Amino acid sequence: MNIVCLEELIKEPKIAYYSMEIGIQNDIPTYSGGLGVLAGDTIRAGADLKLPMVAVTLLTKKGYFIQELDERGRQTEHPVSWDPEKYMDLLPHKVSVRIEGRDVLVQAWQYNVESLTRGCVPIFFLDTDVDGNAPEDREITHYLYGGDLAYRLKQEIILGIGGVRMLHQLGFEIKKYHMNEGHSSLLTIELLNRFKRPIEDVWDEKLVWDVEKVKDLCVFTTHTPVDAGHDRFPYDLVTKILCEPIPLNVLKEIGGRDDLNMTRLGLNLSEFINGVAKKHGEVSRSMFPGYEISAITNGVHTFTWTCDSFKRLYDKYLPGWANEPELFVRIGRVPDEEIWDTHMEAKKALLDYVRRTTGVEMNPDILTIGFARRATAYKRADLIFSDLDRLESIGPGKLQIIYAGKAHPKDELGKKLIEKLFSIKDRLKGKITMVYLKNYDMDVALKMVSGVDIWLNTPLRPREASGTSGMKAAHNGVMNFSVLDGWWIEGHIEGFTGWSIGPSPTETTLTDNLDTRDADDLYNKLETIIIPMYYSARHTWVRMMQNAIGKNAYYFNCHRMMRRYVTDAYIR
Ligand SMILES: *Cc1c(COP(=O)(O)O)cnc(C)c1O
Repeated sequence: MNIVCLEELIKEPKIAYYSMEIGIQNDIPTYSGGLGVLAGDTIRAGADLKLPMVAVTLLTKKGYFIQELDERGRQTEHPVSWDPEKYMDLLPHKVSVRIEGRDVLVQAWQYNVESLTRGCVPIFFLDTDVDGNAPEDREITHYLYGGDLAYRLKQEIILGIGGVRMLHQLGFEIKKYHMNEGHSSLLTIELLNRFKRPIEDVWDEKLVWDVEKVKDLCVFTTHTPVDAGHDRFPYDLVTKILCEPIPLNVLKEIGGRDDLNMTRLGLNLSEFINGVAKKHGEVSRSMFPGYEISAITNGVHTFTWTCDSFKRLYDKYLPGWANEPELFVRIGRVPDEEIWDTHMEAKKALLDYVRRTTGVEMNPDILTIGFARRATAYKRADLIFSDLDRLESIGPGKLQIIYAGKAHPKDELGKKLIEKLFSIKDRLKGKITMVYLKNYDMDVALKMVSGVDIWLNTPLRPREASGTSGMKAAHNGVMNFSVLDGWWIEGHIEGFTGWSIGPSPTETTLTDNLDTRDADDLYNKLETIIIPMYYSARHTWVRMMQNAIGKNAYYFNCHRMMRRYVTDAYIR
């Protein structure tokens, strides 16, 4: 059935979307977090909108990892094993790429994302576990963000160079190549080779490389507002592993003098470049002066990130909402009690899950704060605990807190942070109930963003490029209580869609971040605004829930985002 679809699919020129990770469904563990979930949401919205798209990623047969936490919060990682055959079809096509002087065969698994609108976006999962490949090459596509720099470069060769060859081999005509972050930037090198001018046609040897032609075909989205977050490879490693696909002097000109910087490469060879929120666009422009960088603010896939009870509510009052999230503008039609009851249903489902997985009993009538994201220092998961005495004077009987998040296996500080939260949990016992759910994934995420009362986010400014979990919360009538960074700068209307923490976003240098100032604001608002409103002004509270849906979910969804990509990037 898929093969037939492939023939159907190659009829029309396509936008090819490349991402190192794609979160397409919970039990396909080829994603680690925000970037992958966004990629999945992008593709789902593309299918809903019947866009002519295909996507390419790596199979990562051993996935990211399963998180185990002991009673003290120490994390251990277990490889995931999953069976691609259960979900996808292995295609007979093979391409080969050269790595360390060997020809490495690459095969592809096809997974079709099909929408109820009958749109279809196929994803090709590249896999080097092919008979005939050397044992070490068979593992190139096994681990997501595992291994050393050499391993990562090999993966990026498979994704970028192998990924272009595979679509070509399958018979696709591609009108735009969209690089979701720099991991796939090597595709530009393959395109340069593909569109090389014959040497006898040019008067200067450099003109063999038709940079303008490749630029015309490429779109680059950057997601990282921190310099260290961009992939860089030393040239001796590059020449050892990749040899010299184009002359080194040309490569250095487009990929960076000192090392091969995958972001530079993407920026230099893309006609359209964007950040993922307005502020992030600004930050990126100052990080990379001289490039024209736009901003397309992220969204989330509306249907995917709405819990069952809200799906039923929207079906009743806003039919058509899933493929037309603009209909949230009419959320005012829904009676207050129904919004509240729908929320309580989601909250009880989450608290059930908490009881089943941790044994902890939480009270559905207590204001519940949710916090879940990668456990890493800049996200400051412990900000709310900066002054425990103060929290203990505000919270008992009025607050409970649910956490989740994995730390990257190599992020020791992140792991320590989880342990710290566990010890605080013990200290607060009997006063403020707190749980840490293990193995945060898309399923746990949906339960959390829909089942808590407020969604907390306290990153160091301006490190949060966009953030998306808060948008998921808004789709379920859950208000954000967050530092003004990323998307929240655009979504926040104080006391209306949610609440801010700390100073306004005009100040963006890291030195402006004062933990104490942010914590102080957090405590003040909890104590004087949020807790009193929750317990004594339920009507106002539900009005705010409506605004979260009618103003935040209305805008911060992937349908809006994809229309922007089409008009600004794909068909310009
Ligand atoms: C949405 C999501 C993320 C990203 O959330 P942020 O708010 O951007 O940190 C990470 N992991 C999972 C499993 C998600 O569903």
